[in-house]
Amino acid sequence: MIDLRSDTVTRPGAEMRAAMAAAEVGDDVYGEDPTVRALEERTAAILGKEAGLFVPSGTMANQIAIRTHTEPGDEIIADARAHILLYERAAPTALAGVMPRLVHSERGIFGGDSVRALVHGPLPGMPAGLFPPTRLLCLENTHNAGGGSVWPLDRFAETAREARRHGLRVHCDGARLWNAAAAAGVPERAYAEHCDSVAVCFSKGLGAPVGSLLAGDRAFVDRARRFRGMFGGGMRQAGVVAAAALWALDHNRERLVTDHLHARKLAAALAALPAVEIDPERVETNILYFRLRNRAAAKFAEACEARGVRVLPIGIDTVRLVTHLDVSAADVDRAIAVFDEVLARG
Ligand SMILES: *Cc1c(COP(=O)(O)O)cnc(C)c1O
Repeated sequence: MIDLRSDTVTRPGAEMRAAMAAAEVGDDVYGEDPTVRALEERTAAILGKEAGLFVPSGTMANQIAIRTHTEPGDEIIADARAHILLYERAAPTALAGVMPRLVHSERGIFGGDSVRALVHGPLPGMPAGLFPPTRLLCLENTHNAGGGSVWPLDRFAETAREARRHGLRVHCDGARLWNAAAAAGVPERAYAEHCDSVAVCFSKGLGAPVGSLLAGDRAFVDRARRFRGMFGGGMRQAGVVAAAALWALDHNRERLVTDHLHARKLAAALAALPAVEIDPERVETNILYFRLRNRAAAKFAEACEARGVRVLPIGIDTVRLVTHLDVSAADVDRAIAVFDEVLARG
């Protein structure tokens, strides 16, 4: 089976498992797991941050960040299709008690003007304290629902700078920051330096089985540790999974550009099919979305699955494909042949 539903479906290979088996471990809630500490230090260094906190999932990393930067009753600004709002089970309102205010953008990328338009300033004639404080801007890079879109670095910097000018803190949902950096040809810290906190995921493109990391300055991470405990994210001998993440950092970062090439190849082939609506120019990393003309996405997915290719129907007529380290060049060719065959049949 060629599984193109998500880059979270990868399974650890023999070498990664060997690294996991050999990991030195301890009780991480007591700060005694040397492998977790090594991962936290290594990742924080890559991101140019003082400290890091290992957590079970990208969702938890984001939600701890939001809770750490805010108090209940505060406002946050995020793109209307941000992962933190679409796919995290209303956690910002349920766990942090914050009110999201939405930027309606093109593919998750916007400018400082959008932030400025939403920040409340004092208004003459209006009572002081009428509006909730706007505390946090959340940026997502790459933007998942935006089709794996990459923020141009100067736009990212300008938007973050404008937020900070208004006293906001800036969090980056960088679950896919590895892909963004690979596609933009800049180090991850070039984005991270504009943010107070960054969340990165080891279980997407990097192919580790479990884990994300939240990075920031020491005071931020100290406070975040409290909320990791509150949210039930304290793990014990977590070095077993941290070892897989360390292995992935060493072996699976450079190859991300291959996933991007594969996605572009899929997009170009799909664009040639009359039944498909896709703009291949917009496929920048390893995610691609396309629409089917007069066909149900679920039916299409079923027909592909019967021929050994799994795709993700994410709307009535919309399909998502994601390339990853368990999808080879031959798999890409095979998937293209299957799409051809399924769509030729009408
Ligand atoms: C996958 C993803 C997350 C959440 O990660 P989980 O580990 O699945 O909770 C957050 N943000 C983005 C952009 C993602 O793609």
